[in-house]
Amino acid sequence: MKKTRTRALPVLLMTLAFFVGIGYFVFNLSIHAAEWASMPMNDHLSDNSGLEHAGTITDRNGVVLAYSENGKRKYHDDYTMRCACMPVVGDDSVNNSTAIQTAYRSDLSGYSFIFGLGQPDMLKTGKNIKLTIDGNVQKAAYQALGQFKGAAVLYNYKTGECLCLASTPTYDPMNKPQDIETNDAYEGAYINRALSAAYPPGSTFKLVTSAAALRYIDNVENREYDCTGSDMIGGKPVICYEINGHVDLKEALKTSCNSYFAHLAVDIGKQKMTEQAKKMGFNRTWKLDSIETGESTYDVSKATTHELAWSGVGQYKVMETPIHMAMISAAIANGGTPMMPMLVKNVSGDFGVPAPDRQSAAAEQMMRKDIADKLSEMMDYCVDNNYGNWSFSQEVNVCAKTGTAEVSDSGEDAHGWVTGFVTDEDCPFAFAVIVEHGNSGYRAAVPVAAAMLNEAVKAVRHS
Ligand SMILES: [Zn+2]
Repeated sequence: MKKTRTRALPVLLMTLAFFVGIGYFVFNLSIHAAEWASMPMNDHLSDNSGLEHAGTITDRNGVVLAYSENGKRKYHDDYTMRCACMPVVGDDSVNNSTAIQTAYRSDLSGYSFIFGLGQPDMLKTGKNIKLTIDGNVQKAAYQALGQFKGAAVLYNYKTGECLCLASTPTYDPMNKPQDIETNDAYEGAYINRALSAAYPPGSTFKLVTSAAALRYIDNVENREYDCTGSDMIGGKPVICYEINGHVDLKEALKTSCNSYFAHLAVDIGKQKMTEQAKKMGFNRTWKLDSIETGESTYDVSKATTHELAWSGVGQYKVMETPIHMAMISAAIANGGTPMMPMLVKNVSGDFGVPAPDRQSAAAEQMMRKDIADKLSEMMDYCVDNNYGNWSFSQEVNVCAKTGTAEVSDSGEDAHGWVTGFVTDEDCPFAFAVIVEHGNSGYRAAVPVAAAMLNEAVKAVRHS
């Protein structure tokens, strides 16, 4: 009897360990199975598989952007709309990691806990996804970008809904170019630049330097520096495009005086500049639903005084993503705290059963309300007294800041930027546009912002 018991014990323990192991596996399976099945390294998924019976993707107005029919994935009828929306929707592959058809593949393909991805067709439960994107706004931005590479973001700063996340170059998902891997015209076509690419922000960064100045320097609005067009800072000249003479903060932002903001950054100092940049979202990434953005960076830890000066005008090593720049404008428009941008309005239940709309949440505060209001007033002044509101819109009031960012040592044309927002209550839109090598924020990026903005305003006021 005793012998039996001593033999039974190891068996019992092994049996117990077996069930604990199974339990652990099942637990993990239940949590991660959909994710594992949809991983890009799962060979079963490559080339269309998983999407043959996938759910439908629509824009915010119910326009169908992608759907499955007779075992094939299909896209919008209009070629231009397909190209414009591809960076958001994706193609049949999983090359673009931020595209909806990659990031939400398990939802779309109807992953089943019992059958995995291989369940019988009649039991497929692919979910439908409604985006916050407006296809027409996306198309307007794409067309305005033309042959340039770049990105255009527009989002509602009250709700967080992204109406536009355009990126070029792009391509037709129903007829992928043969030379996509080798032709420079398609360089980076697999990434959505609006979310994943970081560029030197140039003069748009003067908004961050201004926010730091308003936070840390008493009475900074009345502070003047003398711009001679080429001022020695830290032993070397900082070049300004104009000779602005004595200017205060508001005038300096309007004329985009490099000397002024270079002096200001040095006076604010490394630690406080870094503190403010961090507060405003540099040196971190963001998540739009489950989609992770690229990182904006501000690191002056090894900068000389001269380099710190250049960082204050968005040069040196400063880098920023278009989505993050739109968030900064959204924060200024929204009293200092931006709403998190969102891309997915809802994901239906199994068999397309309707689901409630998702709501975005506020991100962390980027600046105090009085600072946001002051910056808003300064950006309004820039538009009224420099760019002209007409360059953006005949209908709504726009506050904005342009930037022309030198691309270091390459000898290529500078990047053109603009960021800003609309103050009209019914059109609470914040935006950012980058045109690579567009050579001027005002000439290259403002027209793209205008095209995108006017289509969004039209959707609200004239639909
Ligand atoms: Zn100047």
